[in-house]
Amino acid sequence: DLEARLISAWFGDHQVLQDVSLTMPAGQVTALIGPSGCGKSTFLRILNRMHELVPSATLAGEVLLDGGDIYDTSLSVVEARKRIGMVFQKPNPFPAMSIYDNVLAGLALTGVRADRDRKDFLVETCLTKAGLWNELKDRLRAPGGGLSGGQQQRLCIARSLAVRPRVLLMDEPCSALDPTSTRVIEETMTELAREVTIVIVTHNMQQAQRVSQQCAFFLASQGQPGHIVEYGDTDAMFSEPIDARTFDYVNGRF
Ligand code: ATP
Ligand code: MG
Repeated sequence: DLEARLISAWFGDHQVLQDVSLTMPAGQVTALIGPSGCGKSTFLRILNRMHELVPSATLAGEVLLDGGDIYDTSLSVVEARKRIGMVFQKPNPFPAMSIYDNVLAGLALTGVRADRDRKDFLVETCLTKAGLWNELKDRLRAPGGGLSGGQQQRLCIARSLAVRPRVLLMDEPCSALDPTSTRVIEETMTELAREVTIVIVTHNMQQAQRVSQQCAFFLASQGQPGHIVEYGDTDAMFSEPIDARTFDYVNGRF
């Protein structure tokens, strides 16, 4: 499991998260929902140590992956990000690099060596898991930038998978995509969740219900930094939310 314990976060002296604790169970998809600006992306970035890239950012709390602290000084940032990958809102393959090399790009960064057979195998495996192999197997040398938006996003998923992460964080991965590509990625997510823990931020309530088993509702209100109002089983949260604000949000009344 991936577990956040009492996470608080600041940009300068502006506090954006307060005491966020959340367990994201292995083998499941956890959805983070909530209005714009409530700190969902900040929380996601804290989970794989991207928050610390912002010079003014500070942090309190712990992030544990299967009980081990990902902020432990004995664990390098590269090692932490190998275990916990991230896919962004805007697909960002290396546009001039071939599809084949895009999938393997993460390996170079982490210094893993692989011979040609091993690379071929990895590319096929990762593209298959991302639902792209059949579509792209005959054009692996074509540039990543020549693919459709949905294909580019699946290529980014394949690239994340190549370093064998335990967790995949996805920040609004479908919001730049058409409905068909969105469905394809949702199916990919459901398949992947069997081996990779998935955390997805989405503004699409139908999507949260289709893909996630657990859901957390974040809110920031006047004077109060982002925090979790309600967390639990997705179906229960949508059908019988405990908090009136959750009810309003999931019913589009925010
Ligand atoms: P959205 O749904 O619009 O993506 P979000 O829930 O992901 O919103 P965040 O992007 O995490 O929200 O932002 C939370 C708060 O932190 C906002 O007030 C935002 O202005 C602030 N913030 C985010 N990134 C930075 C940054 N690099 N420097 C300063 N403030 C930031
Ligand atoms: Mg965001």
